[in-house]
Amino acid sequence: MSRHTEQNAPGSQLALCGGMVISSLDPVRLSTADVVIAGDRIAAVGQAPPGVPRRDCSRTLVLPGNVCAHHHLYSALSRGMPYQLEPPASFLQILQRVWWRLDRALDEPSVRLSALVGGLEALRAGTTTVIDHHASPNFIDSSLDVIAEALEEIGLRSVLCYEVSDRDGLPRAAAGVAENSRFLASRRRLTRGMMGAHASFTLSDDTLAACAQAASTASAGVHIHVAEDRADQDDAVARYGARVAERLGAAGVLTADALLAHCVHVSDFEVADITACGATVAHNPRSNMNNRVGYSPLARFGQRVALGTDGIGGDMITESQLAYFRAVEAGAAAGPTWPLDRLAEGARLAGRIFGEPLLGSIAVGAPADLTVLSYDPPAPLSAANLPGHWVFGVAPGRVRDVLVAGELVISGGRSTRVDETKIAEVAAREAARLWGRLDEIPAHPFTPKGQ
Ligand SMILES: [Zn+2]
Repeated sequence: MSRHTEQNAPGSQLALCGGMVISSLDPVRLSTADVVIAGDRIAAVGQAPPGVPRRDCSRTLVLPGNVCAHHHLYSALSRGMPYQLEPPASFLQILQRVWWRLDRALDEPSVRLSALVGGLEALRAGTTTVIDHHASPNFIDSSLDVIAEALEEIGLRSVLCYEVSDRDGLPRAAAGVAENSRFLASRRRLTRGMMGAHASFTLSDDTLAACAQAASTASAGVHIHVAEDRADQDDAVARYGARVAERLGAAGVLTADALLAHCVHVSDFEVADITACGATVAHNPRSNMNNRVGYSPLARFGQRVALGTDGIGGDMITESQLAYFRAVEAGAAAGPTWPLDRLAEGARLAGRIFGEPLLGSIAVGAPADLTVLSYDPPAPLSAANLPGHWVFGVAPGRVRDVLVAGELVISGGRSTRVDETKIAEVAAREAARLWGRLDEIPAHPFTPKGQ
């Protein structure tokens, strides 16, 4: 499926010329400039020297690539999936009847195609890094390698982990810990690891401790769902007499490297624990609305709030717009720069994981992860009013070019690496096989306490 191009191969030089350059989202910095790339880094911002190959970017926004801070690429083949069981009436039933059936039906080919399809969609929307949370209980060993290879094939930067859970039995929980540890010990150019864990309500104290220990050994953070739904809190209180964040804190999961998805149903006491340890909260507004899990103001978590899709595509432009609208609807909007600040926080998170503090900025020495978006401002545009243009005028369908680590991986809206039409055809056949296996898998029997 690969068709590597000679153009903009790693190590080459390129100048993106004449665009409106958003060199920083937080604070917003905007100027008209050329961005010169040498190898995998930004070499200059200003005027391109003669002799460097030029790419016309007039009438475009040139901005740092977005980061999806919480994704489930494994769900990429589920759209339009037939559903024959009784409709789910709660968040728990959505897991039991949809996602915990889909994950058990996944095998190596479907995991690989899901990563290719989901990864390409992210890139085409201007997302250059995906932080993924993977589950395939019947294909655990080497599953992260399969995803890493698929994402490297299309040129997407990623942070991967396997979702450890006790819901499919202790041997699979142990295999999940081992898969994370194995992957964390490997070294790849565009991919890093985290320690993945599902959620308090499917993890025993022993398994949670094993996750925290493995994360500590690898100097990595734990990526885990936290109080996405009230059921997570009900279970923690019923089984352990503690709230979710208390459990996680006691197990050693709450560290500055932790990534906590959702955090919808946490008390002020838990918020204090989460902010004190410096963990990052991943807010997933579309998914929260779709699962009707509720809404809680994000401002209480302070600066370390990033945005994710929770598997609903990889488009962070739309996700950031919806995060803003949902906050406005809830009376919790923190000002027009808030969605841009959250995107910048996602880049800071990825930057810490990759040891690249300049990731997410267009500055000399920063990794050249960039998006070029066609945009003719129909009203005056400045750094001061960019947030208004972003929320009300920018559209992911206008993403023209994407560079990751200096390589042009999307050109004119299409992958330079792979034949997307062919991948879609193969994926559609794989999805049909996946759905066929799903028919044979009943609703998952696992039920937390307190339900
Ligand atoms: Zn999730």
